[in-house]
Amino acid sequence: MKRQKITIAKGDGIGPEIMDAVLDIFKAAEVPLEFEEVGIGEQVYLSGNTSGITSEAWDSIRTNKVFLKAPITTPQGGGYKSLNVTLRKTLGLYANIRPCKSFHPFIATKHPDMDVVIVRENEEDLYAGIEHQQTDEVVQCLKLISRPGCEKIVRYAFEYAKLYNRKKVSCFVKDNIMKHTDGLFHSVFKEIAKEYPDIESDSWIIDIAAARLADTPEMFDVVVTSNLYGDIISDIAAQISGSVGLAGSSNVGSEVAMFEAIHGSAPDIAGKKIANPSGLLRGAIMMLNHVGLQEKAELIKNAWSCTIEEGIHTADIYKEGESTQKVNTEEFAKAVIERLGQYPKKLNPTIYSRGTQINLPEYVRPERKEKSLRGVDVFVDWRGEHTNDLAEQLQQLNNDLKLTMITNRGVKVWPKGFKETFCTDHWRCRFEAADGLNPAKSDIVKILNQAIDHNLDVIKTENLYTFDGKRGYSLGQGQ
Ligand code: NAD
Repeated sequence: MKRQKITIAKGDGIGPEIMDAVLDIFKAAEVPLEFEEVGIGEQVYLSGNTSGITSEAWDSIRTNKVFLKAPITTPQGGGYKSLNVTLRKTLGLYANIRPCKSFHPFIATKHPDMDVVIVRENEEDLYAGIEHQQTDEVVQCLKLISRPGCEKIVRYAFEYAKLYNRKKVSCFVKDNIMKHTDGLFHSVFKEIAKEYPDIESDSWIIDIAAARLADTPEMFDVVVTSNLYGDIISDIAAQISGSVGLAGSSNVGSEVAMFEAIHGSAPDIAGKKIANPSGLLRGAIMMLNHVGLQEKAELIKNAWSCTIEEGIHTADIYKEGESTQKVNTEEFAKAVIERLGQYPKKLNPTIYSRGTQINLPEYVRPERKEKSLRGVDVFVDWRGEHTNDLAEQLQQLNNDLKLTMITNRGVKVWPKGFKETFCTDHWRCRFEAADGLNPAKSDIVKILNQAIDHNLDVIKTENLYTFDGKRGYSLGQGQ
């Protein structure tokens, strides 16, 4: 039978040591896969390729569609792009899955019953990387949340819960503040939750949710959240489950999937052959599940559990009096190999569901809503002292649209601001049509032309729309 080929990269720092350990275990477990090795990371960056990945590596990953990646080092300075972000976004790896389970009492943790899976959106949010400096004092970063992005990640979380017999999916958002962006994520969550009546669902504001996750993680099961929140809480969850060095993760798209450890290349211990290969191994076990090799995944996971519960530990998790043997990377792999075929006695033996490919339905674009222009926010770089002076200048811009509000960093400062409000040089000036009037895009152009005539430094505009009559923009704080 033809073996499936997967792409591997040994990466930098401890990468080659831990990848070799994983491949040794795979070989001993007779995992029926072929490996095609590609070079990525530091050497590629330093050869002048600012993305850290060669075109041969792209071809291999796109052909094989499964990628097991050891950590890499991103050289400091010099404008090198994060390879991880590039890989995730270019390959459409929309879901990042990070199981965080404690292995009490064999690995120290304050949370013995913790077993949480973080499902993080991986492509959008503030990681769109669209940033601009607009004035001397203000820089902005665009937070982009899309309906297809929300639908894919939320559906993935519920499908994951269904497949792995999880009981609950929790949504973490901040829609009390970001009513439109996080509001969309939350409303899509509520819509999709209804399609899974057998799975419990609840929603949390991210700040208190993160606090509860750090304090009582056993109250959560599967958590779904957007990119930045997911980035932060998945590190918290991995850390409190025992060690960041133990967690693996998968990055899944509709075509390609990438598997890795969550830790970095650990340059401080590179070459010493003492690194713990468990994070990469657990990522590799997720990969075996992904390609339908559940029996091999169970064989290796159970041997790993035996090794851990017998107290055979690498230096990062070794505890005097609790561990029985301190081993190096190679010895740890050897101990796992020796236990292939055994089941743990104290930790729960692992049995994976079969047929574990999650296939989401194609995104169906909803019918267009009726979109109606209601006005425009004109952002101005202005250094005056009295907001009334700016308002007077703006009111001279002869137009059908009327100045209705000025805010500074989102807070209303005109009409009727508070003298205590601190103002920067970045002003949002809202022009709106009177009720019943339908402004045209040309009205916005007129305002901009007149602003030039009045020497007003406009730095950007945002059109104000309603969608099926519903306001698609936020009010000013204090409005
Ligand atoms: P790191 O995760 O490499 O190391 C943090 C600490 O944890 C170090 O003390 C290290 O020795 C220890 N550690 C990490 N993995 C271990 C393991 N398997 N066994 C034992 N100890 C382990 O984080 P860092 O030092 O902030 O980053 C180092 C480099 O890794 C940077 O260049 C960073 O950009 C890169 N990085 C890469 C990835 C990736 O490729 N996925 C992820 C994070 C960081």
